Amino acid sequence: MDLARYHRLRSAYYRLEGQRCTSCQAVQFPARTTCRICRARTLEPHRLSGRGTVYSHAEVGPAPRGFASPYLVALVQLEEGLLLTAQLTDVDPEDVMIGLPVEMVTRRIQEHGAQGYLVYGYKFRPILPRRKAS
Ligand SMILES: [Zn+2]
Repeated sequence: MDLARYHRLRSAYYRLEGQRCTSCQAVQFPARTTCRICRARTLEPHRLSGRGTVYSHAEVGPAPRGFASPYLVALVQLEEGLLLTAQLTDVDPEDVMIGLPVEMVTRRIQEHGAQGYLVYGYKFRPILPRRKAS
């Protein structure tokens, strides 16, 4: 991803910002010019919860240039019902299963040695069980 494109998309990637249609209330991500359900253009920014479950997953390696490999990629179903593809982090491959609760975190996605900048974006990690107060 080039730097200009990265800056243009950073709110979407940093905060998982999608859109809500004010006509039919559908939520979508990433942003489009029309609603995917009713095709209205009355869309407003809508921040997604960033929580969901693993819908399917795969281990990728060798990775494309600039990506650390191997890495885990998953189709995550958000609480809002949307599916999106993202890398998984902070988890061992054998611990990933369909239905695993996950949450969004911001992590380094790519490293561009030549230009010397880092691209950060969203990944998902398992939601850890809350510790009970003793
Ligand atoms: Zn709509």
